[in-house]
Amino acid sequence: TNKFKEGLTKTRTAFVERVEELITRRKKIDEAFYEELEEILIGADVGVNTVMQLIDELRVEVKKRKIEDAAELQPVLSEKLIGLLRGDEDNKIHLESSGLSVVLFVGVNGVGKTTTIGKLAHKYKSEGKRVLLAAGDTFRAGAIEQLEVWGQRVGVDVIKQSSGSDPAAVMFDAVQAAKQRGVDILLCDTAGRLQNKSNLMEELNKIYRVIQREVPGAPHEVLLVLDATTGQNALSQAKLFGEKSGVTGLVLTKLDGTAKGGIVIAIRNELQLPVKLVGLGEKMDDLQEFDSEQFVHALFA
Ligand code: GDP
Repeated sequence: TNKFKEGLTKTRTAFVERVEELITRRKKIDEAFYEELEEILIGADVGVNTVMQLIDELRVEVKKRKIEDAAELQPVLSEKLIGLLRGDEDNKIHLESSGLSVVLFVGVNGVGKTTTIGKLAHKYKSEGKRVLLAAGDTFRAGAIEQLEVWGQRVGVDVIKQSSGSDPAAVMFDAVQAAKQRGVDILLCDTAGRLQNKSNLMEELNKIYRVIQREVPGAPHEVLLVLDATTGQNALSQAKLFGEKSGVTGLVLTKLDGTAKGGIVIAIRNELQLPVKLVGLGEKMDDLQEFDSEQFVHALFA
């Protein structure tokens, strides 16, 4: 919870403090109040569609509970935000309880895929699991080395081939190595170039098929990594990837770097995909499993 609180400082200032100011200044819930609230929410990148839905839901609830005093609105707002974030859904990363699990990371260059893989490797390793990394981004210069830096930092091996080689072949190697070494979790990086989208989707499909063929039940998760600081752009990237690559969940990175943390709410509400992890900084420990209630409570704490 503390991690959330720290990481969400910017969003809290831009969003919650403005809501609180509005409540103290306006005192009454009327049309002018709703209009200003709408503006604040859109400013925090909650997204127009989601804001409209939220305001509608608030109106209904305020009427039902006969609330007039704005000071009483905050718990209702929290409740509705948790609802939009599907507070009751399962945000866990699903892995085998024994035997090899494979997690595939997809997303555009620069969103924080490598960093997230490093952080997650650290987390699993410190839980006593055997972890292996696969350098599946053979396209971007420096991608393999960058994953190796994380591997060294965390103390886990990286399976790689030379730059430019076939990523599906890297995955095949990685899976064989994982089986031989009795690895619990194989975390796979992939390319994120967008210059040639259909080509990239084909490449991801090929990787997917190799993993599926070599390990029963795999890939156990396909996590789409999105950069929260890109706001509505992250939402369109999610739509692009989500439709084609068998994505099972989302990772939202760089929440610490943005005042627009409301994007989490927009993304969750507008896509049929659970948010599983959030990145709250550049360090090894700055990764948090997502929990809607903790998230919203950290905002209003
Ligand atoms: P990739 O191209 O998707 O593999 O992206 P990288 O993992 O290389 O990350 C790109 C940049 O974002 C790096 O400078 C990371 O340190 C930074 N980054 C990644 N995740 C986070 C995060 O949660 N918070 C912050 N502040 N920076 C992050």
